[in-house]
Amino acid sequence: MSLSFEPLLKTRRRFLEVGAAALASAALIACQPTITSLPKEKEMPHISTTLGPKTQAELGLILPHEHVFVDLRTWDKSGYAQAETSDVIALMGPELERAKQAGVTAIVECSAVGVGRRADILKAVSEATGFPLVAPTGVYREPWIPPWVHEASQEKLRDWMTAELQGQIEQTGVQAGWIKLSAGDNGITATETKVLAAAAGAGVVSNAVIGSHTIRGRVVRDQLDIIEKAGYTPQRFIWIHAQAEPDFDLHLEMARRGAWIEYDNIGSGQDAQHIERIVRLLDAGFGDQILLSHDRGWFDPAQPKGGVPKPFTFLSESFLPRLKDAGVDASLIRKLTQDNPFRAFAR
Ligand SMILES: [Zn+2]
Repeated sequence: MSLSFEPLLKTRRRFLEVGAAALASAALIACQPTITSLPKEKEMPHISTTLGPKTQAELGLILPHEHVFVDLRTWDKSGYAQAETSDVIALMGPELERAKQAGVTAIVECSAVGVGRRADILKAVSEATGFPLVAPTGVYREPWIPPWVHEASQEKLRDWMTAELQGQIEQTGVQAGWIKLSAGDNGITATETKVLAAAAGAGVVSNAVIGSHTIRGRVVRDQLDIIEKAGYTPQRFIWIHAQAEPDFDLHLEMARRGAWIEYDNIGSGQDAQHIERIVRLLDAGFGDQILLSHDRGWFDPAQPKGGVPKPFTFLSESFLPRLKDAGVDASLIRKLTQDNPFRAFAR
């Protein structure tokens, strides 16, 4: 009896698989009709950048949280996210050249939808400098969230993020390399919860990492609960701006749950505390979950010719020597600045 059922079961399973695949691709086409063929993805773990997929062998030091172009005015202001691409290249090109000289091989750009994301400009700056940037899908917190996100269903947001992570952003030819979002300082709002649950859904499909600008550790606790409920894992979550939480026990709690702990205002006057916290995390066995960056840059469209950018070189030139003096050896520094950011963003 069982033998005669087997082929039938196989046929049925195959039918279901083919049916599910067809449905999935139909859903993708419906939500993003602009997907065109992009360079075939590499088989090895890689980071999607403005210059295509990059493997670890092609990269060294990676800064996981910087900005090349940001507009912190909300979407309804005139001139929001507008700039001449040539002006951005003129201002930020030299900064990326300086970063290269300081040993930086890629920068993760953290300007999501809501704070002036312009993947087309990022791509032009990258092409002018030969320097890869990692662009996000996702959307910032209230009040920067635009109306279409408030109105969209969780499923629609999930499919939009998935399409940008597996296809491209707005016909730019740039594939999103990760998901950036945020939550309010006093607690996550209903719309921010919807965005995060959608991101977790997109993460399940794409294995992309989710990074969240979150100032309070107890809000991160709620965010990790939401991610787990959606079937994704805290191991694919970066707590951006963790340094803003004074209670170090919360850093340890989120690390224990598997999240990445990102100290990303290196060079802003908190470095002695950063070094102390890094050493404590290393001693507690969480060296594989630490990320370090400056949160610097950028071209600001609200300023004449983009304003005055801050360089991306402090970590390499000043902070890492101090970290070494504090007893963190070269192989650990390599882990923190090369291996960790690669593993966080690779998929
Ligand atoms: Zn930032």
